[in-house]
Order: sequence, then structure tokens, then C-alpha cells
Amino acid sequence: MSEVRTRFAPSPTGYIHVGGIRTALFAWLTARQAQGQFVLRLEDTDREREVTGAAQHIVDSLHALGLDYDEGPGIGGPYGPYVQSERLDIYRSWAEKLVASGRAYVDPYRTEEVQAFREQAKINKQPFLFRNHRPNQSFVWNGQQPLRFKSDPKDYQWHDIVMGDLKSSPEVIDDFVLMKADGFPTYNFAHIVDDYEMHITHVMRGQEFLASVPKYLNLYEAFGIQPPQFATLPHILATEGNRKLSKRDGAKDILDYVRQGFLPDALISFIATLGWNDGSEQEIFSRTELINKFSLGKVQRSGAHFDERRLIWVNGTYIRQQSLPKLKEAVQNYWPKEATSYPDDYKEKVLGLVQERLKYLAELSDLSIFFFVDIPPDRSLIDNNKQLRELSDEELKQLLNAARDMLIESNFTVDDLNQRLNTLLDQLSQPPAILFSLIRIAATSVSASPGLADTLSVLGRERTLNRLNTWLNIL
Ligand code: GLU
Repeated sequence: MSEVRTRFAPSPTGYIHVGGIRTALFAWLTARQAQGQFVLRLEDTDREREVTGAAQHIVDSLHALGLDYDEGPGIGGPYGPYVQSERLDIYRSWAEKLVASGRAYVDPYRTEEVQAFREQAKINKQPFLFRNHRPNQSFVWNGQQPLRFKSDPKDYQWHDIVMGDLKSSPEVIDDFVLMKADGFPTYNFAHIVDDYEMHITHVMRGQEFLASVPKYLNLYEAFGIQPPQFATLPHILATEGNRKLSKRDGAKDILDYVRQGFLPDALISFIATLGWNDGSEQEIFSRTELINKFSLGKVQRSGAHFDERRLIWVNGTYIRQQSLPKLKEAVQNYWPKEATSYPDDYKEKVLGLVQERLKYLAELSDLSIFFFVDIPPDRSLIDNNKQLRELSDEELKQLLNAARDMLIESNFTVDDLNQRLNTLLDQLSQPPAILFSLIRIAATSVSASPGLADTLSVLGRERTLNRLNTWLNIL
């Protein structure tokens, strides 16, 4: 069997979101699983839609997620160049083959003329087909006129690895533009040439291209070449309903997720399951598992809902599984600035405590700030607490005083603190929801924190007692 070669062929027209990365990922997994090659090709033939910096952005996104490619812009390869705007001569020579075989013709019409054809078709209640208006006279193509494919409409049947057996009828095949007046090819034409020249064996792309496959099959046939295998990926839908995921629904730049502290492996696992699972209940997959288990044949046909809450859950799971040294390295840029002056081992202890609650790394600052800064007491923390707000200031003060007296005696190890805190619960006959919440608020000035004894132990004796005193003064 020939070597598996897949490609990711984005157009540099903006940032990449989950949809783009999913296409890249499925192509990457297919190649890696088969020990084949994964190719990056930039499809920059639509110069009006091109966005400065987008090409770099694509490369950075793949790099950030560890989707390495074997051939592509910047690294080259045997079938380069891998940027379509650098391949214009190649498209031109392929176009000339079609001109020579009578399968392409110069489009002689002005926009208004085409518009008139369209309107006439509408009046006749017929679909507009360019092939009904092929010019009688043929013009010599000089590379600067639009060139159209002379289609040969017919029935097609083909197999799509994801969508199954498909068929189409002749009406969907029309004469489409191959080369534009600016000397650039259309996507419809260029990708066929490139996939062939680059020996691509499997084409994975979004569902928006499915309707065009019959045209492509017609063009493959005109060239006398074999199409690759197609795997059409289902749409990614908004969290609710049947709308395609859009920027409005949070289809954000994948690098934004990376910057917020979503771990590459968590993103990969989450994105892989947008439309694929291995048939079991498993929801989280390591990269190696994905390479071993992924199968295009198990990609679902119907749209896959994008649920950011699930991504957050997956990421939190990954963060909890990280070893502390690794996590420490990953969070380097996420500490609150006040942490700078603190020793490493203190930060490591803090991290060990908040790891449990961290869903993405950018939360570290908010979750850990009270370990580094004395936050001024804020009465609303009491008022917003259902149980504490029922107590008078006098009662609160009594409880806090008792807590302070107990803490003075502690050596601030977690065990000792736990023991004393529990004894105090008994002595004061208070539920934890009251006593521990009060101590927590007084020691941290936030409403939620890691386990109380752990938190106090890391904060240490002096800091804890000072903070309790400050609260006692305002009550
Ligand atoms: N350049 C196309 C796009 O970005 C790629 C489609 C394909 O993979 O063939 O949408």
C-alpha cells in the first residue's frame, strides 16, 4: 500500500478556531497513525480576503498544539513550494493541458452580461447554469482572462470515509472558473492540482465543500487522474441548537485559549472528540491514545456541538493530573505580580493547594492572590454568606476570638490545625458552615479557598493571626 499522506490546507484569511484545528488534527492523526506524512499547504489565492499575519498565525497555532508537519512552508519538502501563490506557473501549465484537450475555455463575458443570464434564468424559473451559455467563438487564453472548465455533466457515485456512499446528478455540475483574470487559480482548481502533485492520499475538510465534490470528480476525470479518498468532517455547531458555530458563539482564536492557559493536550483531546469517539464512554484521550485509536470511519456524520464548559472541564482534569514540577513550569507567567518576591517553595505550596481548583492557568492569579497580599476586610463577604449574616457582630466576634485563641496554640502543621479546628467545632457546637466559613473569610478575605487547614498552614501563623485581628477590629 502506498504511504498515507494527508494535508492541512488553510487559507490565511484570519485566525484559526476549533474548526480549523479539528481538520488539521484529524489529518495529523491519520498520518501519524499510519506513519505517513502530514503536509501544511497555504492556500493564499484569494488575495482580497487575505489577512496580514494570518499565515504566521496558522503556523504558530499548529506549533502551540504540537501538530508538527513534515512538509510545508518554511521547512520545504519534495513537492514544494507549499504556498499556492508561489505555484502560479504550475497551475498555468495544468490549465493549458485543459485548454489543449478542449476542456477549458476563455470566459468572454462581462459581469453585467452574466447578471443578465442569471435574471433570464430566474424569469424562466430555471436554475442558472453557466454551461448553457458557452460562447460559440473561442478565444486564445493568454493567462489574463478568466478561464472556465468545460464540464461534462453526469451522474456520480462515490464513497466518503465519513459520510458513506454518496451520489449526485448532472445538474450540480457546471462550468466553473479555473483561473482568474489576475493570474491566480480558484480554490476549486488549485487544490486538485496540488493534492495530486503532492501525492495526497486522504483529503479531510469541512462539510461546506461536500456539495462541490461532483464538480471536482468531473475535473479529476478531465485530467485523467485518480481522486484521493475523501473524508468530509461534520459541521461544528453552537452549544445549543443547530446553528453552525460562529465567532459570536465563542469560536475564538485557538491561540487565545492557549494564552488563557488551556493546555495543548487538553485542547487536543477536546477537539478530537468534536465529532469522534472510540465507541466507548471515554471522554479524555492522551495524544498517544488518539494516535492509536483514532479512526475516520468512526467520525459521526451529524454536526458536533461545541461546549466550552466541557473544554473547561477537560482542561481542569488535565491540570489536576499534572505533576507539580510540570505544572509549576506551565504557570510561570500566570502568578499575580505580587508573588514575584516570594520564594519558590512557598509558591510551590500554594500551587499544590490551588491545583485542585484551577480550570485554566489564567485563573491562578485570582485563586492565589490572598496568599501573597493582605486583602482589606470586606464586610460584604459576611453579608453575602447565608449563615453568617444571621449572626450578630457580637456572636461573630466571640467565634473569631475563640478561633484566634485556639490558633495561637497551634504549630500550624496541617494535622495539628485539623485537630484543633475539629475540637473547636465541638466546643462551640457550631457547624463547619459557620465556624470554618468565618475563619476562612477572616484569614483570606475571599469566600472560597482550598481546604481550611491546608490554607492556614501555608499562610503561616503570623499572617493568619494578623488577619484575624484585623477582622476582629472591624466587627
Ligand atoms: N483552503 C480551504 C479553506 O481554508 C481548504 C479546504 C481544503 O482543505 O481543501 O477552507
